[in-house]
Amino acid sequence: MMDADTYLARAREVLARVFGYRDFRGDQAEIIQHVAAGGDSLVLMPTGGGKSLCYQIPALIAPGLTLVISPLIALMQNQVAQLNALGVAASALNSTVDAQSAREIYFRLRQGSLKLLYISPERLLLEGTLGFLRELQISLIAIDEAHCVSQWGHDFRPEYQQLHVLSEHFPDTPRLALTATADPRTREEITHVLGLHNAPIFVSSFDRSNLELTIVEKVDPMRQLLQFLRAHRGDSGIVYALSRKRVDEISARLNAEGIRSLPYHAGLDAQTRSHHQTLFLSDEKIVMVATIAFGMGIDKPDVRFVAHMDLPKSMEGYYQEIGRAGRDGLPASAWMCYGLADLIQLSRFIEDSTASETRKRYERTQLDALLAYAESPGCRRVPLLKHFGQDYQGPCQRCDRCLNPVALEDHTEPARKLLSAIHRTGQRFGMQHLSNVLRGVSSEQVLRFEHHTLSVFGLGKAWAEERWRTLARQLIARGLVSIDHEAYGALRLQDACRALLRGEQQFWGTKARESAPARSGKVKANSPRLGEASNPLLEALKSWRKDQAAQQKVPPYVIFHDTTLSAIAAARPRSEAELSAISGLGEKRIERYGAALVSLIRGFD
Ligand code: ADP
Ligand code: ZN
Repeated sequence: MMDADTYLARAREVLARVFGYRDFRGDQAEIIQHVAAGGDSLVLMPTGGGKSLCYQIPALIAPGLTLVISPLIALMQNQVAQLNALGVAASALNSTVDAQSAREIYFRLRQGSLKLLYISPERLLLEGTLGFLRELQISLIAIDEAHCVSQWGHDFRPEYQQLHVLSEHFPDTPRLALTATADPRTREEITHVLGLHNAPIFVSSFDRSNLELTIVEKVDPMRQLLQFLRAHRGDSGIVYALSRKRVDEISARLNAEGIRSLPYHAGLDAQTRSHHQTLFLSDEKIVMVATIAFGMGIDKPDVRFVAHMDLPKSMEGYYQEIGRAGRDGLPASAWMCYGLADLIQLSRFIEDSTASETRKRYERTQLDALLAYAESPGCRRVPLLKHFGQDYQGPCQRCDRCLNPVALEDHTEPARKLLSAIHRTGQRFGMQHLSNVLRGVSSEQVLRFEHHTLSVFGLGKAWAEERWRTLARQLIARGLVSIDHEAYGALRLQDACRALLRGEQQFWGTKARESAPARSGKVKANSPRLGEASNPLLEALKSWRKDQAAQQKVPPYVIFHDTTLSAIAAARPRSEAELSAISGLGEKRIERYGAALVSLIRGFD
């Protein structure tokens, strides 16, 4: 066993030679040293934080085999392709591997010529597999996407709960659990279920500082989406919507607008889904419109935006989904459009489901957290990171609230009017009706219930319906009003509103903007953009990369990431030695592409 310093030096050498990176990021070095010393651990890092290197580097230094347990086939294949491109002996065993290929993998395992084996939990847990692996020298077990043990999360995988058997089969092998989902409850479940007792938890900052966060009020969602996409012409991105029908509609509309798009949802057959996913991974300019069925295990580094057309179900879900943008560290956008109706619909899903009361309570708190985040008047990162247990002091200057601050104003009077309208109409009506009453609109329903005779009728004419809706969301977010599901989204008063009604408390809300309110999503794209025709060398490099990718039948980013291409275009290295100074260019890549790159660059003299 090497001493800690020698080991770290060795790890740095591998980092530079194989991966072409100069320095470890965040906790990587510490984690790697802990693994080398034989300890178990839990690693919490946001998506794109660099979890994989935490086990890949020890895997390359240790004498035996590293097992990587991973729940998704797409993810495994991706990782294996990227490792193979770096000259690392890695393979994957899962349900898509045919008998012949499986035999070859077993042969290589027996020979000891594989360094990393990615394996699905189903496959691993077969008695035959475990028996076979026990005969090998296993130096490390990495359990990726470890939050899949959690029954509460939407990625629950029952097989993950059985992974505690690993400690019995491989008592002396260090285990490293990794995840990007980190609420305290999930952490506890992971260490408990996997039996990682006394394992340190390495928690990275959850701030994805390259993501620009924007939330807009839903007015005309399709138009708002198109407006947002104007800043993302030619970018690869994902648009999430709640239902299959919406996915199909949005995708069709984008195509009609000349934005190349593909749908992805559980209603499409497996072959179509897999085809769409492959196209998305290999083409740089596709917008995937999808339900949340899409995305887990997609580690395409150059996704430039994630747009939510509806409110996600939880903060966890939201953070994972937006985490798919900007994994290469370059600027990317997370945009969400939501309104009161989304809130009502999601709450109704929760109440109508057949889940247990405990589960429902959990889902309600998740939705509340999301609402509090969306309605918070200050820097978005403060409530977001707070949810993940991190105290963040804004302003971040990369969210709509920081870039385009909203003022607060005293809304005590309007709030009391709305509360009173709810009370006087018997707590049986939704916001449409309530706003008609307040604004003095004699709709058919208002007349039928004789609500035009109420004292609050017409008291709120100064405000448009949208402002009343905003106020309603803010009252809900602060627990003064609730949504009644039995009554199809009617608003009800909560005890907490009494002080306000009695005039003992004030209510401050966000001030409406002068012209177009917060709906325009007009946070400017203040980032230098890749892919614009401004740099002919970069364009040439991209097109060269595309050819290489097509020849090798892999996505372009397996050849080189955008960051690497931009660095090459900026530095214009004239020799293989100069190339090696660029981040992302390890030994194998230089050996393979160095000469071609140098001659391509010389062509631009
Ligand atoms: P995660 O699994 O945490 O989502 P990855 O392990 O896929 O993230 O890493 C995200 C990106 O960051 C990858 O492109 C990876 O190559 C890159 N990366 C990781 N560690 C480093 C480092 N120390 N220096 C430079 N780039 C890194
Ligand atoms: Zn901010």
